[in-house]
Amino acid sequence: MKPTQRLIATLAGLAPLLLASGCVPQDHGWASVYKPAQSMKIRVLMPAEAPSISQQFLFTTNDAKHIGIDVIGKAGDPVIAAADGHVTGSFSEPAYGNRVEITHGPDANGKRSVTVYKHLQQRLVNTGDGVVRGQQVGLLGTTGMLGGGHPHLHFELFRGAGAVGKTPSDPHLYWANGIGQVTCFDPARIYDNTVFTITYPVRCRGI
Ligand SMILES: [Zn+2]
Repeated sequence: MKPTQRLIATLAGLAPLLLASGCVPQDHGWASVYKPAQSMKIRVLMPAEAPSISQQFLFTTNDAKHIGIDVIGKAGDPVIAAADGHVTGSFSEPAYGNRVEITHGPDANGKRSVTVYKHLQQRLVNTGDGVVRGQQVGLLGTTGMLGGGHPHLHFELFRGAGAVGKTPSDPHLYWANGIGQVTCFDPARIYDNTVFTITYPVRCRGI
């Protein structure tokens, strides 16, 4: 291949990603920075194998909100449960498309948590189903008006003491490896379920 051909091939490979996400430089091992308006910014450590994060959590007292993280991928990639739990929502609506909601806990502190998976191409679980950490619950997609046209998972986490957690929380606070340490799901690992922790909601490369 001539250098010009190689350049064109490289650009062709990058173009869909750059167009779709604005400034995501690579498809794995990268995380965007927090917007200035977010007061609690967490130092995020991304494993090289983890699909990149194109947008971080943003929760302010004004209208500037993105109460989850966006994980990029290809349409049809498996979306997996971030922790053991049971499905408390599996439906489609116009804004966020296909979504799955999973309730976890209560943990040792009596708190329940909810994780939400949006813009799914397809849902693979139904309300009432029990799920285990790492179980496939849907396919990554672009559904919903806010799906942005580029395949990504919008992943939310809510914490609360009541029957169902309702406080939006930054997912980076709850990784199994510690705050800010994005944790790939490893089927060979035994997770401590007495404390609520999550693993990455999509599969990491090579695992
Ligand atoms: Zn999002």
